[in-house]
Amino acid sequence: MKHDVKTRKGAGSLVLLLCFLMSTLLSACGNPASGAAGELDGTAAIRKYCTYGAFFRAEGTVDLSELGGTAKDIETAALELRTGNGEEDRTSFEIPFSVSKTKLTFRTAEHLDEGLCLDTLETGDTAAFLKLTRKDGSTALLALADGTGSETTGPQDAIEYYTLPYGYHGRRKVTTAFERAGTTETLVFRTKRSRLPKDVYDIVVDPGHGGKDPGAQSGPYKESEVVLDLGKKVANALESAGYKVLLTRDGTEDPNVNMAYTEYDKDGRVNRTCASRAKLALSLHLNQNKHAGQNGVQIYKARQAGNDFAKSLADELVVFTALDYSTMGGRTEKGVYVRTFSNRELAAERSKARRKGYTFYDATTSTDYYFMIREYGCLATGAYVDGRNPAYGVNEYRTFPQGVESCLCELGFLSNEHDRQVLLNDQRGIAKALTRAVDAYIASLHEEPGSQTADLLAKESL
Ligand SMILES: [Zn+2]
Repeated sequence: MKHDVKTRKGAGSLVLLLCFLMSTLLSACGNPASGAAGELDGTAAIRKYCTYGAFFRAEGTVDLSELGGTAKDIETAALELRTGNGEEDRTSFEIPFSVSKTKLTFRTAEHLDEGLCLDTLETGDTAAFLKLTRKDGSTALLALADGTGSETTGPQDAIEYYTLPYGYHGRRKVTTAFERAGTTETLVFRTKRSRLPKDVYDIVVDPGHGGKDPGAQSGPYKESEVVLDLGKKVANALESAGYKVLLTRDGTEDPNVNMAYTEYDKDGRVNRTCASRAKLALSLHLNQNKHAGQNGVQIYKARQAGNDFAKSLADELVVFTALDYSTMGGRTEKGVYVRTFSNRELAAERSKARRKGYTFYDATTSTDYYFMIREYGCLATGAYVDGRNPAYGVNEYRTFPQGVESCLCELGFLSNEHDRQVLLNDQRGIAKALTRAVDAYIASLHEEPGSQTADLLAKESL
């Protein structure tokens, strides 16, 4: 039966009062999942779910024949979130979907870092449903059941997410569960106030290279040394702004170890970054080019991520330091870049695998090339380093459902005179710019239309 507010308004005042008491009582019971049981028209199966940065993402399918309709009938799909059982406890936003015959495939957002931001959930339980609207205006409310059917994600791998600091909002922990909603189960987010555990961080600052690996070199200057100095300043600036920061190296590493080969050690930068359950990572690097005139900032992001975070980093660097945007090709926006494997690189990887006697990784031209983007993102970005290449260890978190939203920041060209001066002499400016970018990005998450924080702020300002 549809729970319709108009019908309630049309009824007598006693019925209205009873309904109000009932809904208050049900809200007090705090079970938005079972509260929706009577309204459910069917089930959608979540095939994969994970977090990426501050966002929860689910992908799944619906068998439309069970709903007695066809693909042609569906006008929109929306994710509906319920914190209680009243109309006012519901928010929803449209999500992308595609249909073929009787199968509907949905995902909670176009990009990995869009859609449901976990930082904006209210304290308490939030149940999630899929709402389909047909072309004739009728709707179907579907439970979001666990259909992962795999060992990598599922109820046994509940997400434990800790919110980023923002405004007056204290820290909160969000866990996922599948809870009974009538004859089926649906996805529920449990949000509680919480301290940040010792081993959980907000942001990873990852100065590239290190040990025996100098990275780019120009005259007496080594990329590994410059980004280490920069990284310490960036970490300090972020800590002063209230973030808990993990620095992947601090210069105490063994100078004889080539860190290009220890990335996948148990205590290497990949496993430490993934284990930190941080939301964001900044991998700091410097460029080099045989043309000394080549200069500027390049921020690389995951192929499936939106431009917002990378754009914020590039823009603040250009506004607050004397660095400029790189003019090199391949950018998606000024200063924002994506690099996936080229066919030539895949061929080289294939021949390397053959030479060393291991099975080629399942990489394609859609796979992110840089490990500090692909592997830090875990399940969300298709991390794949499982130890088959004997030259490396294992990313033990490759199927972990909580990925770090990572940008590889090529801050400038060590081979360019102008950039080099800025990189060596305005490190505080660079640290400040990156901190401003992180602040601006996190603030934007809370200002998204549909965000419950935005709704609360709007209510408070009334
Ligand atoms: Zn580098």
